[in-house]
Amino acid sequence: MTSKPANSGSNPEAHNPEAWAPATRLVHGGTLRSQFGETSEALFLTQGYVYDSAEQAEARFKNEEPGYQYSRFANPTVTMFEERLRLLEGAEACRATATGMAAVTAALMSYLNAGDHVVAARALFGSCRYIVEDLCPRYGIAATLIDGTDLAAWKAAITPKTKAVFFETPANPTLDLVDIKAVSEIAHEAGAMVFVDNVFATPMLQRPLELGADVVIYSATKHIDGQGRCLGGAVLGTQKFVDDHLSVFIRQTGPSISPFNAWVLLKGLETLPLRVKAQCENARLVADHLAGHRGVAKVLFPGRDDHPQADLVRAQMLGSGQVVTFCVHGGKQEAFRLLNALHIIKISNNLGDAKSLVTHPATTTHQRLKPEARAELGITDGMIRLSVGLEDAGDLIGDLDRALAAVG
Ligand SMILES: *Cc1c(COP(=O)(O)O)cnc(C)c1O
Repeated sequence: MTSKPANSGSNPEAHNPEAWAPATRLVHGGTLRSQFGETSEALFLTQGYVYDSAEQAEARFKNEEPGYQYSRFANPTVTMFEERLRLLEGAEACRATATGMAAVTAALMSYLNAGDHVVAARALFGSCRYIVEDLCPRYGIAATLIDGTDLAAWKAAITPKTKAVFFETPANPTLDLVDIKAVSEIAHEAGAMVFVDNVFATPMLQRPLELGADVVIYSATKHIDGQGRCLGGAVLGTQKFVDDHLSVFIRQTGPSISPFNAWVLLKGLETLPLRVKAQCENARLVADHLAGHRGVAKVLFPGRDDHPQADLVRAQMLGSGQVVTFCVHGGKQEAFRLLNALHIIKISNNLGDAKSLVTHPATTTHQRLKPEARAELGITDGMIRLSVGLEDAGDLIGDLDRALAAVG
């Protein structure tokens, strides 16, 4: 099943979506309008598809005739989500998955073989680090974890056996950046493919494929849904990568997304630019306020000139992102006191939501790591990660001020 809409003939303006600006692609891109002419995209909540004849069934299974067979392989609502995201990213092909982790697993494991080598930045989302550090070696894939901000470390780690490099940027929760362009050049010289987890930047704020990456991965659970409702993921890359590796893996192993979740995420894409823009504006106000507060020891925010890699932020990102990480004076006790004193901002380890969410990485998302490993990543006991939502910035600042006062 191709990811191109099959019946765009019923939708005359769909003939050249590549010519549209991103906002238009996100509202109309990929629409497969049915014979009923519905305005909103249809939810095809179906497992299977009926055939006109036994001959037609045979032709579909032989790939001699286009059309759907079974929703583990493809589904029209899922196709709409994939095509809309593909148009936004400017990729040749896209496949959706049940979760962000299914996307990471499918992207890497569909491509790597026993005997291969993968190099990854060690500042990875916890489960991504598990895939590289624990799972890959069990299947004979050697893994090296390095400091992703250090180009010399990438050069030293990548060898002719390296088939893939993998990193997220900005990284959770310290918001360190990896130089996508420079690392892609180093990787490509050795013949390795570059896989980027682009969740924190969102497709609005960072364009990894244009910077040289080969595969972009999303947890659509975050900003693409953006309202905390369902899980989802996506992998984008060349048609060849998707045809030769990813599609077969998804079809045969089944990390397929539910059409219902794909429909929610498809509708989420319509408002993605508006939400991300508003969240970034809020995050900037919150970050600047926290940086000027004497109860705050440190603020890490890509949108501020005091970010350690401010030049790289300007070169590689189109906006600041909506996550602000900051440290209170003291440790766990002070951080907990702050979290427990918040009213509007909720304690939750999710991010990208309309609701502002706060988490204490050392005891939640990164508690699996040994203290030395946390220290290596710069995660301290006083560190707090704040995902800024869509509330009024003044209310958020008021909530933080009240909570900081409670810390003492
Ligand atoms: C949330 C997240 C994931 C995993 O996504 P799920 O949808 O929760 O499976 C992977 N990478 C990053 C950076 C994330 O924030």
